[in-house]
Amino acid sequence: MTKGIHHITAIASDAIETVHFYTKILGLRLVKKTVNQDDPETYHLFFGDRLGHPGMDLTFFIFLPAMQGKIGTGLVSKISLAVPESALQFWLERFQHYKVRHEEIEELCGKKRVSFFDKDGQCLELVGLSQDEFDSELDLWTAEVSEEHAIRNFYAATLSVVSIDAIEPVLTHVFGYKLHHTDGHIRQYVLSGSQRAQYLEVSEEPSAAPGFNAAGTVHHIAFRAKDAKQQQTMRNAVLELGLYPTEVINRFYFQSVYFRTPAGILFEIATDGPGFTADEDEVELGKQLSLPPFLQPHREEIEKHLKPIPSE
Ligand code: ZN
Repeated sequence: MTKGIHHITAIASDAIETVHFYTKILGLRLVKKTVNQDDPETYHLFFGDRLGHPGMDLTFFIFLPAMQGKIGTGLVSKISLAVPESALQFWLERFQHYKVRHEEIEELCGKKRVSFFDKDGQCLELVGLSQDEFDSELDLWTAEVSEEHAIRNFYAATLSVVSIDAIEPVLTHVFGYKLHHTDGHIRQYVLSGSQRAQYLEVSEEPSAAPGFNAAGTVHHIAFRAKDAKQQQTMRNAVLELGLYPTEVINRFYFQSVYFRTPAGILFEIATDGPGFTADEDEVELGKQLSLPPFLQPHREEIEKHLKPIPSE
């Protein structure tokens, strides 16, 4: 059984804009500035809490040239972030101040929420929770937004699917999610025994158009395995469903297994460790371009292709 969302990786069109939005406006920390290991001439940027712990690690591939994506079925269509309910008004005012496209407060599955969009049209939302609903071991980054208002961790992600049957067996059999709440066409699933990024929301849209996976959409969602052994157990559960997981891939900051769900959404199973301090000291995280050992010999060539990101 997973403990929840490990990270979510989305696609963006511009590294500098993305760093500005997620650090200066949302107040997350750029915990790792590295490259896409499958396409090392493009950035892979990781934003998180102080150390980018599993459960608060939102990452972006900067795909060039950028094509505009379209939210639709077969994709993660919304990224939900947990904040104290008392902070929602602060965030509404902050979005107005920074001219962030957003909606008004609405309620879904018993929680107040504010949807908003980054410059690529990536759909996110803040979900207001009461203090007793948060993980007791928060490790917040408060350089831009004070502790009182700061984003805590993922609350959930919305999976848009044509049919619930194409996703539910994966959620229940591989990861241990249980149906918790139904609100209109949204089914909310939860993991028992976890207080961090433990929800998923599935939107069943039988007649909606498929999404197009490019800038402004999510590339994949990763779920936590506490270690290699638990990752193997989940990989076996994927095989039992007749699906095709990859072998374990060493991503240096964690070990990964990927598989495509019958709903079309790309899933990953990622180990909790070793994490982002594997190659940088806590205070230095994200300041320099980090490369995994197999790319170190190519640093000079790689850097030629990357537009430098000024530190703000
Ligand atoms: Zn990933």
